[in-house]
Amino acid sequence: MANTIEDEDSQPFPWQLGVYDAHCHPTDTMSTVSSIPEMKARVLTVMATRAEDQELVAQTADRFGVKSQNQGSWSQDECVVPCFGWHPWFTHQMFDVEDFGGKETLDQDSKILHYQTILSPKRDHLSEEERQRFASLPDPKPFSQFLEQTKRYLTRYPLALVGEIGLDRSFRIPETWIPGHDGKRDESLTPGGREGRKLSPYRVNIVHQKKLFKAQLQLAGELQRAVSVHGVQAHGVVFETLQETWKGYEKKVLSKREKKKQAEAAKSSTQQEVLDADEKQVSPKPFPPRICLHSYSGNPDAFKQYLNPAIPAEIYASFSTAINLSDKQDVSAPSALEQLIKMIPDDRILIESDLHVAGPRMDQHLEDMVRRLCGIKGWTLSDGVEQLGSNWRMFALGRMQDLS
Ligand SMILES: [Zn+2]
Repeated sequence: MANTIEDEDSQPFPWQLGVYDAHCHPTDTMSTVSSIPEMKARVLTVMATRAEDQELVAQTADRFGVKSQNQGSWSQDECVVPCFGWHPWFTHQMFDVEDFGGKETLDQDSKILHYQTILSPKRDHLSEEERQRFASLPDPKPFSQFLEQTKRYLTRYPLALVGEIGLDRSFRIPETWIPGHDGKRDESLTPGGREGRKLSPYRVNIVHQKKLFKAQLQLAGELQRAVSVHGVQAHGVVFETLQETWKGYEKKVLSKREKKKQAEAAKSSTQQEVLDADEKQVSPKPFPPRICLHSYSGNPDAFKQYLNPAIPAEIYASFSTAINLSDKQDVSAPSALEQLIKMIPDDRILIESDLHVAGPRMDQHLEDMVRRLCGIKGWTLSDGVEQLGSNWRMFALGRMQDLS
């Protein structure tokens, strides 16, 4: 007998149907990575964010990466899909060589000028104290070098995605460790994250962030890889940037009559025309084929623009207990999150932990989110887990023929 939705909360969780984390950071705590094959979750989509974790994600993929699109052939140890990308929180560590006459390394004055240009609030004149503060920040690296490195990783791992990339208007860059104080840092964590550092008053201006975001979207388009996108207090400009990448490639939205006409024409098309169409599908484009808005926190109204059928990329939204369920809402009123989730097509929702530690806590976060989503969508647990699994496969692995 079928269970009612109300009964579902007390039901055992159907892990055996396959649960997939669409966005997480286990390489932030490398000692937990070896436990991934023993987790209840079947596959983790593992993000890279900064200089320190790209190679760690690659090593994790060497041990646990899935080796084919065909899930039926996976061993228990194939439980990771690697992602390579540069997170908005670290965009100040990158410069555009074209802004510095092609120079690949910056002297002290150029380094200070770089920070003066890309940080806000913007200062036309720096005090001696500010000069010293900028001089103490990390030595910026050419972004073009990072893009080349990412392209090599993506080529080495044909099933890898691009992430985590995006835009963030709310974060401030941390102060450099005060000499001597870095001894206080937690050695179990991969370096380069914020940890306990004080935040500076500076943000990275959105123009600079956007330049780096867009270049990575284009790389994903060139290699036809899906992307995982971070957007915080920048939902409008995230959409605008994505839209710029697919400009000119919008799908023609057909009327019923046109659809019928097209179906008739397709019947009479030759085999060669069908092949041409397939060819076109895998060829490089300036935008990614599939986009996941990770821990999506925009309001439901703003999400409507992503439902436009002319958008040539598949848009997914993923939800985490860490971000999306952090503020306990008034249960008597339908929350914005509920409204949003109801609006998203069933086949475009994903779940994620966004956690920096692999293991039981990650499993628990995923289970909590699935239960919540099933409640909102009116799915039974097993229907929900199956739907979310098929969504993740479509997002992360793509359709079989997409990989040439
Ligand atoms: Zn993340």
